[in-house]
Amino acid sequence: MPRPLKATIHLQHLRHNLARVRQFTGDAKVWAVVKADAYGHGIERVFDPLRAADGFALLDLAEAERVRQLGWRGPILLLEGCFEARDLELCSRLGLWHTVHCSEQIDMLAAHKTQLPHHVFLKMNSGMNRLGFAPERYRAAWARLQALPQVQEVCLSTHFSDADGPRGIAAQLAVFERITADLPGERSLSNSAASLRHGTELSGRNDWVRPGIALYGSAPDAASPDARPWDLRPAMTLSARIIATQSLKAGDSVGYGSTFVADRPMRIGVVACGYADGYPRHAPNGTPVLLGAQRSRLLGRVSMDMLTVDLSPVPDAGVGTEVTLWGQAACGAVLSIDEVAAAAGTVGYELMCALARRVPVQVGDLI
Ligand SMILES: *Cc1c(COP(=O)(O)O)cnc(C)c1O
Repeated sequence: MPRPLKATIHLQHLRHNLARVRQFTGDAKVWAVVKADAYGHGIERVFDPLRAADGFALLDLAEAERVRQLGWRGPILLLEGCFEARDLELCSRLGLWHTVHCSEQIDMLAAHKTQLPHHVFLKMNSGMNRLGFAPERYRAAWARLQALPQVQEVCLSTHFSDADGPRGIAAQLAVFERITADLPGERSLSNSAASLRHGTELSGRNDWVRPGIALYGSAPDAASPDARPWDLRPAMTLSARIIATQSLKAGDSVGYGSTFVADRPMRIGVVACGYADGYPRHAPNGTPVLLGAQRSRLLGRVSMDMLTVDLSPVPDAGVGTEVTLWGQAACGAVLSIDEVAAAAGTVGYELMCALARRVPVQVGDLI
């Protein structure tokens, strides 16, 4: 028998979350962001529920090929653009739209031979200082692209650093608006957090939005890691069963490094999930888990193949009891991936992307 551990991808929740994002973004077209193998969910699995989007955005050319192989004929956007000249051949062959964020990418495009001119997304560095042209160099880059026979259309884009936090988007938005006010062309500004938290401020300013994490049901708000107020539903559940129990006396310790010591007699359950499955090793004592519908907590250090949980809240739990590490339990109870991530000092993104290959994945279509 395989280890009693699985990830479940909830197709119905992906559909719901996409519809939910559209409620915040008006008439804007939606790029479903499926980079990093759809944030760990698997491009092939999410394709059907997300095909109601207007396009797919990603950054790996092999992933773009996979989306085309699934039969998608609509737009595909490369979020980091091309890394070398021959990537442009693939763009031409597969009809990929691509970001242009530096002058080297314009040079490559100017030297590229193509029958069909490309759609490009010209990226401004409006303050994040990762990718993009500095504001004062943006208009020259735009003019240069506009003059190339290889270019059909230039869309104007930028990316916010603090859409999910207290700094917000105002400063970056002002820079972008000042530089692009009189430029023609479509615009694309918002990731999930900007789409949901700043929808009003950005109303009418996006022709294309680029949600990722919200589609997968994670909260777009760094300060309150709970997706329920946004009515987003978990797209991924990680669950396992208890494979052994232990009865501790006061003073007994648990696991490597003895980081948990019982202060009273108690029962613990050993769960078939560890850091080699993608559960964060840094999750501390007290990180929440679900035993059926009942919340409990992680005890002791997470090891490679196992972790241990407190059975005190559920006295009849034992070998075979289902433990939800994040997502939605069979009974419907939800443990937010963001809450688990926050306890472990990270974000839901990292946990979902880190789901290990050895975890069997089941596709669920729960209503
Ligand atoms: C990953 C990415 C997104 C999606 O961000 P979320 O926070 O997951 O919504 C949007 N735009 C760009 C440029 C990205 O790289």
